[in-house]
Amino acid sequence: MNCPRVEVDLSKIRHNSQTLVARLKARCIRVTAVTKAVCGHRAIAQTMLDGGVDGLADARLSNVQSLREAGNTCPITLIRTPMLSQADDVVRFCDASYNTQMTVIAALAAAALRQKKVHGILLMVEMGDLREGIMPQDLGAIAQQVADMPGVALTGVGANFACLNGTAPNSDQMRTLSDLATDVERRCGAMLQTVSGGNSANLPWALGGHSIGRINDLRLGEAILLGVDPVTGDRINGLFHDAFKLVAEVIEVSDKSARSSVSAAGPNTGGLRLVPNEAKAARLLLALGKQDTDVLGLSMPAGHTFIGATSDHLVISSKQATLSVGSEISFQMNYSALMQAMAAPDIQTKCLDDVPSPIVQAPKGAGAHLALI
Ligand SMILES: *Cc1c(COP(=O)(O)O)cnc(C)c1O
Repeated sequence: MNCPRVEVDLSKIRHNSQTLVARLKARCIRVTAVTKAVCGHRAIAQTMLDGGVDGLADARLSNVQSLREAGNTCPITLIRTPMLSQADDVVRFCDASYNTQMTVIAALAAAALRQKKVHGILLMVEMGDLREGIMPQDLGAIAQQVADMPGVALTGVGANFACLNGTAPNSDQMRTLSDLATDVERRCGAMLQTVSGGNSANLPWALGGHSIGRINDLRLGEAILLGVDPVTGDRINGLFHDAFKLVAEVIEVSDKSARSSVSAAGPNTGGLRLVPNEAKAARLLLALGKQDTDVLGLSMPAGHTFIGATSDHLVISSKQATLSVGSEISFQMNYSALMQAMAAPDIQTKCLDDVPSPIVQAPKGAGAHLALI
């Protein structure tokens, strides 16, 4: 089988989707599944839809296009503000897009009129993350312009949190977003279909006990795919966190020391690291490198320790004596490792759809004896 490869267990993605959809449904919040971390992978997207999500969203038009080419006709929203140069294709492939710029919205409207379509516009509001968004005081006037513009329909407002500044939204911010939605409706005399509260970082707020106000949608990627809260890194109860694994092949086994060859001052070492202080571990070289994934986002299997990586090689130490050249080793990935691996040209994705084994909870306090190298 192809190596390196990402193996994805679709049954776990389905379970995570179903579980989050059910939990949020009880709070009257819909789920839009975000496929950008898996590059709009067709089978994974379909599995999210099978799991009951309301629609899909992606940041890149190329991913949306691939979903459309696969025959996917579900609602797809572009969650990154469209490039002006892509306005025509955004209208062609997406039902709606999140926007912050009037010039772009005008170009989308013109494209929609040419294509005899109506393109949905959701306005993204800046609420503290300081990435994309219209300043709240400007929202009303922009919403009015969009509502009056032929070719586009104002379908919603939304906000994004915890992407650039890493802090989850609080109740005050969510109340403000609800109030802004109500203000827009009063001003424009139109009902907003969607008030989107944010990404996976909003789950603690959305599933908390308080009122949800006008929020009726969340855009979820990481929580569905990896079962973790992106702000804390904590595993979300009742979800699988091991739907994906990255499998790489051993290409050299030796007993070179982990210590001698590493100069902490060198430009490529990435600084000092802690590794187990054990002389008797074999040193493995794997055909996997920084060009394939975020090597620091890989979880080493038990008995294995990360030593270093270059563009095409990963060096780890292993206490498992049975490993030889040609053996395969599997790693779990964090979000950063996953998205890079899914986009890497040399990594193929293999889908499994097994009956999932029970959810394994995180081991508590895994300690090791460490030495500085
Ligand atoms: C990436 C992204 C999401 C999904 O984020 P997760 O943390 O993966 O849930 C939602 N909205 C926007 C605007 C994004 O860029």
